[in-house]
Amino acid sequence: MTNKRILIWFRNDLRLHDHEALNEALQEKADIIPFYCFDERQFRTTSYGFPKTGKFRAQFLLESVADLRQSLQKLGSNLVIRQGLPELIIPQIAQPLNITALYYHEEVTAEELTVEKRLKKALAKCNIKVESFWGTTLYHPDNLPFEIYQLPELFTNFRKQVERKSTVAPVLPAPKSLPPLPDLDIGNLPSLSELGLEPAVFEPRGVLKFQGGEIAGRERLQDYIWQKNCLKNYKETRNEMLGADYSSKFSPWLAHGCLSPRYIYEEVQKYEHQRVKNDSTYWLIFELLWRDFFRFICAKHGNKIFFSQGLQGIDLPWKEDWQRFKLWQEGKTGYPLVDANMRELATTGFMSNRGRQNVASFLTKNLGINWLMGAEWFESLLIDYDVCSNYGNWNYTAGVGNDARGFRYFNIPKQSKDYDPKGDYLRYWLPELALVPGDKIHEPWKLSQEEQKRYRVRLGVDYPHPVVDFFKSVKGNEALYHRATSGQ
Ligand SMILES: Cc1cc2nc3c(=O)[nH]c(=O)nc-3n(C[C@H](O)[C@H](O)[C@H](O)COP(=O)(O)OP(=O)(O)OC[C@H]3O[C@@H](n4cnc5c(N)ncnc54)[C@H](O)[C@@H]3O)c2cc1C
Repeated sequence: MTNKRILIWFRNDLRLHDHEALNEALQEKADIIPFYCFDERQFRTTSYGFPKTGKFRAQFLLESVADLRQSLQKLGSNLVIRQGLPELIIPQIAQPLNITALYYHEEVTAEELTVEKRLKKALAKCNIKVESFWGTTLYHPDNLPFEIYQLPELFTNFRKQVERKSTVAPVLPAPKSLPPLPDLDIGNLPSLSELGLEPAVFEPRGVLKFQGGEIAGRERLQDYIWQKNCLKNYKETRNEMLGADYSSKFSPWLAHGCLSPRYIYEEVQKYEHQRVKNDSTYWLIFELLWRDFFRFICAKHGNKIFFSQGLQGIDLPWKEDWQRFKLWQEGKTGYPLVDANMRELATTGFMSNRGRQNVASFLTKNLGINWLMGAEWFESLLIDYDVCSNYGNWNYTAGVGNDARGFRYFNIPKQSKDYDPKGDYLRYWLPELALVPGDKIHEPWKLSQEEQKRYRVRLGVDYPHPVVDFFKSVKGNEALYHRATSGQ
């Protein structure tokens, strides 16, 4: 060993495979101290007062950190755990341990960058070197055919250039062994209640029992791609809403860094060689490119992604109508597709991509409610919350993002019929409509008195009347959009 001692600060990179910071420290033959801090700010409330990290994601995070600790122990090391503010705690533990450098994977958004900045300042005073690495995306920024500040604003332009000119770097190997830790207090994994949260009870109706950690992430990949062979039909099934296997469900592991996108890429390539190469195998990588795109967009535009005017700077008169917002949150809008999805989110911490697009469109294009309220509600509940993907997608769906196609909305009743033709998904989440047969379930407001009696649902009593008229509300919000953009 050299006399280098490097603290590896784990954040949203809770894995050992494809971990550049760890890999680099190993190359340098340094002593390595793996460290995780539960940042207390992440367990406070959002600006609209929701728990910033709700119980579903907190549970997944705890499992992921526990899994990382176990894996490190197996290699002869351990994970030092603390709770508090990393920029205060890291300098406190670094000095007595004679840490020579701090390595970590960098983030791109405001809160995370502020912590990095403060930490750098504090460590500079103690003469501790700070080095950051990039570890979140499929394509490394160094391999992009443009500088981040020149990133194309439209996804298609980004994708085409990247597909033509960039390559994905190979996965870095996981270490086979690690140096033991010096004598220090390892620290305990907090409980959910110590983080101020209630137990996250698993809801059996959920799409999957999401278990945090690298091991569980790899198992899900094995199961979805190899065991069940689902990848070959991904493109055809990915817009469904019911069940474990219509889509990969890799997102919670990607968001916490338990799975590296490059590892998924290599597995897809292997699958293409060994089994089949088709539109579906391409499409999974295509979706990972969306994830990359939003991260690079955040890196390019900084805080703009969090402004209600969005990346395009459109000043819309968003409402903060809490009464209607509550109906949306609780799944009581009278639009079954919105309600089923919102109830799934609230009970399980997950919602399909199709669902997310529809409920976000309804909140913004029908209710005209500030998209930031919706984005914060998602932030609170989603197990797979990723700051760039969440705020990027909300910008996009709210019509203020880097989507040049003007005012677009989802026709909810039509989407409902197209993507849940038999209404199975709706019946699954809306027991009060369980007896409504066939495609009548998509538009319960059309049920006659006699049908309501027959299907044992009283509109306005058991299931709500629509909170707004669909097309009138779209028209109203479209007019506001045109007024706001006509001067641009
Ligand atoms: C309003 C809104 C908010 C969203 N918030 C998040 C979020 O906080 N975190 C998050 O990971 N995804 C978010 N998404 C994107 C998408 O809905 C989820 O990534 C997807 O549903 C996760 O399920 P999956 O892993 O089975 O996806 P799959 O269909 O199997 O896709 C594979 C992977 O590709 C990536 N991906 C797929 N679609 C998108 C997309 N539109 N944008 C970015 N990446 C994508 C994800 O990493 C996903 O795991 C949001 C979408 C919308 C419309």
